[in-house]
Amino acid sequence: MPPISKSKTPFHARYGSHPAFLSFAPHKSGITPLSPLHPGISLLSPTSREVRDELEGFQRGVMRGFTSQYLRELDVVPERPFNVEEDIEIGVEVEVLEWIARGRWDLDEGLEGDVKVIWGELEKCLKLVTLLLASVARHPWFDALLLGEREAVRIERFEARDRNRFPGVEMGRCWKVFRGRKPGLVETGETEREMDRIIRNILEESLTFGVMRQDTNPITGEVFGDGVKVDAMTVYGEDIRVFVAWEILAPLLRRDLNDGERMAERVFVAKTVFHELMHVFHFAQRNFSAEGEYLGPDYYRSLEPFFEDEAEAEYVFPFPSSFHGFFFSGD
Ligand SMILES: [Zn+2]
Repeated sequence: MPPISKSKTPFHARYGSHPAFLSFAPHKSGITPLSPLHPGISLLSPTSREVRDELEGFQRGVMRGFTSQYLRELDVVPERPFNVEEDIEIGVEVEVLEWIARGRWDLDEGLEGDVKVIWGELEKCLKLVTLLLASVARHPWFDALLLGEREAVRIERFEARDRNRFPGVEMGRCWKVFRGRKPGLVETGETEREMDRIIRNILEESLTFGVMRQDTNPITGEVFGDGVKVDAMTVYGEDIRVFVAWEILAPLLRRDLNDGERMAERVFVAKTVFHELMHVFHFAQRNFSAEGEYLGPDYYRSLEPFFEDEAEAEYVFPFPSSFHGFFFSGD
């Protein structure tokens, strides 16, 4: 009989049991920090050493090579309260930008719970998105995305298999790179103006937001194949619609998270929305006229470029992690 009568650990209450531990410790999450084992104990009981190794392996597996104990020592997952007021937490009094604010969100579908409460939490995330958007135009990556030249990807970067799939000029038409512009070529305020134009002429008209289920296409209602789950997705066309998965919003409603966990969840949602918006800027700029008229579907225009020599499939992936202070040569 598994010891199901044992009381749950605080981590279990928040994170649940892990399938690997269900049979022998259903009351444990497996991620409670492990304090150092007394060497005498492991000599007397080789099995406690084994269980410990298993737990440690599990923690490193789900936390990118770290153990909970180590993350705690680094103050990455503090249990202490932060004791900060909401607005101090964000830094300044922030008003969510109109074009991503409540009026743009359809919260009638895909939600569980009180819409007012959910919006209250989502709004805090969108304040963070607002702060990111306020400074993104000063970042050379964003300047390059909007105003950098598009070049064909060098043929050597492709595998022979792909060269056969896209013969002749087809490859150069499909796959592009965008590069940072040399500082001398960038006119002051140019990126901000282009960003504003896209927002005013296109996004204010065409962009809306909704909520989806992680495993279901919100447009067709079909469950994704191969067990695919997404945190968000954007549907492109004359109407651009960003869907955020309910599953990443739900943790924000929990009252048993500590301040650090709550902040991490907010940053995750903000980062996800911001990521989708970076896709949206590229699509909007390429697929609408200067005045904001939709040019119609076009395969080549919609294909996303790579950033410099990055091998990432999506140009946005390397960006948010390096948003604050990454090396950028502009060559
Ligand atoms: Zn993406």
